[in-house]
Amino acid sequence: MNSFHSQTLTGNMPDQSAILSPIQLILNELHRRLKDNHEGEVATYIPELGKADPNWFGICLVTADGTVYEAGDTAQTFTIQSISKPLNYGIALEDKGQPGVLKKIWMEPSGEAFNSISLQPGTGRPLNPMINAGAIATTGLVEGDTTAEKIRRIVDVFSLYAGRPLEIDETVYRSESETGHRNRAIGHMLRNFDILNEDPTPTLEAYFMQCSVLANCRDLAVMAATLSNGGVNPLTGQRAVAGEYVENILSVMGSCGMYDAAGAWIYQVGIPAKSGVAGGILAVLPGQLGIGVFSPRLDAQGNSVRGIAVCRELSQKFNLHLFNAAHQARSVIRTISSSAEVGSKRIRSAGEQALLQKQGSRIRHLHFQGELQFTTAERVVRETLREAEQADHLLLNFKHVPVIDHVAADLLARLAVTLLAGGRTLTLTGGSSLGKLELAFRGALPPDCWSRVEFIPDYELALETIENRIVAQSSSPGWGSRLLEPEECELLADLGAEATRILRGLLKPHVFAAGERIIEAGSTDRILYFILRGSADVWIEPPDQPRLRVASFSAGTALGELSLLDASPRSASVVAHTRVECVALSAAAFESLEKDHPAISASILRNLALTLARRLRKANIEITAAHSA
Ligand code: GLN
Repeated sequence: MNSFHSQTLTGNMPDQSAILSPIQLILNELHRRLKDNHEGEVATYIPELGKADPNWFGICLVTADGTVYEAGDTAQTFTIQSISKPLNYGIALEDKGQPGVLKKIWMEPSGEAFNSISLQPGTGRPLNPMINAGAIATTGLVEGDTTAEKIRRIVDVFSLYAGRPLEIDETVYRSESETGHRNRAIGHMLRNFDILNEDPTPTLEAYFMQCSVLANCRDLAVMAATLSNGGVNPLTGQRAVAGEYVENILSVMGSCGMYDAAGAWIYQVGIPAKSGVAGGILAVLPGQLGIGVFSPRLDAQGNSVRGIAVCRELSQKFNLHLFNAAHQARSVIRTISSSAEVGSKRIRSAGEQALLQKQGSRIRHLHFQGELQFTTAERVVRETLREAEQADHLLLNFKHVPVIDHVAADLLARLAVTLLAGGRTLTLTGGSSLGKLELAFRGALPPDCWSRVEFIPDYELALETIENRIVAQSSSPGWGSRLLEPEECELLADLGAEATRILRGLLKPHVFAAGERIIEAGSTDRILYFILRGSADVWIEPPDQPRLRVASFSAGTALGELSLLDASPRSASVVAHTRVECVALSAAAFESLEKDHPAISASILRNLALTLARRLRKANIEITAAHSA
């Protein structure tokens, strides 16, 4: 028995716990090291908060596409306190619109403590929604006349952010409601300045309740990831807030989320964040990830000491500072090629292929990758314009572009207008984002331009359509619609008059209607067809998957030519694309030719060798191009 077997049989498998993501290991290490930091004090001004275990400590990171990494006490619940403020701000924006909200609450950092009574002189407007005054005013704007109505809406939305139903900690709520005299004073101040229009009590109670919503560290990170994902919870796929308000929420977090430490925070950590006095911090890196940290000991500003340290270290270690954004535009161009270098899988006669090689360099293919927004689209526009200088036709491939924002779609539509006005033609291909582009083009292009733009989702088909157009434009009149003579087919070319006459006697005419099968995969019929007019497609048809078009044939080429060389079953099916007129040479006829006229069969085999050599060369060039791509 070999050692591998003895290992599995004795259950002596390698330790699975040792195979951890390096990201997980970094969080573990950070947690191990920072848990020895005992600085700061647990908040006691809300008496119930004083009962927290000061050693609780959890770290969680969730990517914008929903991968969760966590270390420590990430399931321990606590009240979210002020972390409710930015989430609630989103609700107010949805309920009252941005102008309605800004009329009541401004967005300037106060530079003061969270419970300061910072109202704008004159208007009485709270300076921002992250300090208590602004947050209570925000709760006033949430739809609902009673505490119950408001808090139902609030808890429902918070639950969408967390991806699970959240609840209120009644004890903490009562504890704050009984002692929150300063917040009540702020409420009455707001009423005095008509920032709150009614009795402030229902709003204040709803505010105390929203602060008492129970969440754990993992919930905070998921909430943060939801904001980083444009308002959609990446784990549930459910929207928690309208995407248009995410930037407003993150703006106030960035400038005011850490109260009188906000300036130092954005300088040193550079990730919009919000803290709560129970010890939570929620931090959001737009488009990338969310962080949740929980540890109850607070510094003088009321922010979690370990929470700050975790965010600061993660920011440095992973290079997350918002103003240190990577330049992603450089990689948006995947490759650039031309129809002279890269062809479709159409099997063409030597004449057609020579034509494409000559004319093909005026057809440039640009392949893009990654998301398109302003900076990447700028690069796309610039490179396309540069290529257009030496091109008549441009093929733009968006297969590897998952997202095109409206700015990029608009720029591309404007680019198309310029190119079309400059006499170029365009083909757009690939990917799910094509529909969005087509919509933008419809809005921007004058109707008379449409004949010179094509949207062909399938890249292969796009290549082939362009080639067919060149062939049609550049060949002698009638090419493609004319019925070829058999000796115009490349396998039968240059045989001489006598040989041609003999051969013609062996060829049997065949006509296939469009859609009719010419060759069936698996069959061993050994018939060689010469296409004299029309075209045919080669299909692979896997049992449980959609069939795949892998190649096609033009007039002048031969179908099933490999059956001259061996007797293997047909590897794919061939179906007439248009009506196909052809002549057939059976294996038996070819064998009689070999016997009676060996010189003729040798010429045909020589032509076959040349054709295969030509295709092999073309394939080699394309494989090289694909590898360098
Ligand atoms: N409920 C707390 C208060 O109003 C929230 C403060 C905070 O978390 N910074 O005092």
